[in-house]
Amino acid sequence: MRMSRRVPANAPAPTPERLAEFRTELGRIAPANLLDELTVQNGQLVAALDEVRSQRDELAVLNDELAETNRGVLALYNQLTEELEETNRGVVALYAELDEKSAQLRAASESKSRFLANVSHELRAPVTAIIGLGRLLSDSSSDPLTAEQARQVGLIRSSAQDLLGLVNELLDLAKAESGRIEPDWEDVDLRPVFGQLRGTLRALATRPGVELVVEEPAAPALLRTDEVLLGQVLRNLLHNGLKFTERGEVRLRAEQRDDRWNFQVSDTGPGIAPELHDRIFEEFYQVPGTTRVGGTGLGLPYARRLVTLLGGTLELASEQGRGSTFTVSLPAGGA
Ligand code: ADP
Repeated sequence: MRMSRRVPANAPAPTPERLAEFRTELGRIAPANLLDELTVQNGQLVAALDEVRSQRDELAVLNDELAETNRGVLALYNQLTEELEETNRGVVALYAELDEKSAQLRAASESKSRFLANVSHELRAPVTAIIGLGRLLSDSSSDPLTAEQARQVGLIRSSAQDLLGLVNELLDLAKAESGRIEPDWEDVDLRPVFGQLRGTLRALATRPGVELVVEEPAAPALLRTDEVLLGQVLRNLLHNGLKFTERGEVRLRAEQRDDRWNFQVSDTGPGIAPELHDRIFEEFYQVPGTTRVGGTGLGLPYARRLVTLLGGTLELASEQGRGSTFTVSLPAGGA
């Protein structure tokens, strides 16, 4: 075998003595014989084999660890799947229970409406009879009454009148709740409706310091709705405004915005605290301290029912001492 190595070009040429030194040096590190060389190579081979073996062992350990981790992951996965299935079964059971409960609620609400409708219907005839009899008793062509008798008959008549009002409102609400009111859809011109409201409510605006303002809606004021039901809702809200406002004004205005008509009934009355805004739409609820002006607590729930039937919403914005604004929002094209 021949080996060579170039020396740098600018290196001084080796002297014969230096060459002799190299030769001796090389002779010393050369293997004494082939057997020695083989032994060295065998040693290296054994070391390499050891290395491979230890790497294989490490790999086996890693594999075991991986298998262990896999088993863990699989167990976790199974556990999670089981828990998920359990939860799903719970949710399905809950849904079934909810369905059953809402069916019961629906049935209860229907029975309530039926009961209210029947009772109020049955009460109407005797109450109307009491009012008629009271009128007969106090008629000038009947036998004259003493002052005390006349006062008592007057009390009977006004109580019977209140009772008839309550019975009628109950009947209306029961009808609206049981879905027995079918809106009569037609194209309604709001201006005559507002004119009529202005006329009929003027009789109720008797307080000297309170002005009733029904603004004329801008033409064309056309809306597809049930004229009678809309009139009832607005009359109800305006009546409330006039009932509770002691000074200032009660105002009705309407404006079309995109495909909706918004009706605002605002007053400068006592206002309603925000925490009662939901409650006043509950049946029979009256804000404490306001009962002296009369009423039944059925007007607003009935109004909201009607507005819902007309495909709209009835909302309130009010704060105590700052008046109230009830807003009816209806789709211009009907429900
Ligand atoms: P009613 O007027 O027959 O009592 P409603 O259902 O119409 O019944 O109203 C419920 C309650 O809401 C009223 O008793 C009153 O306390 C309150 N309320 C309604 N409208 C107004 C208003 N414009 N200003 C102040 N309070 C009001």
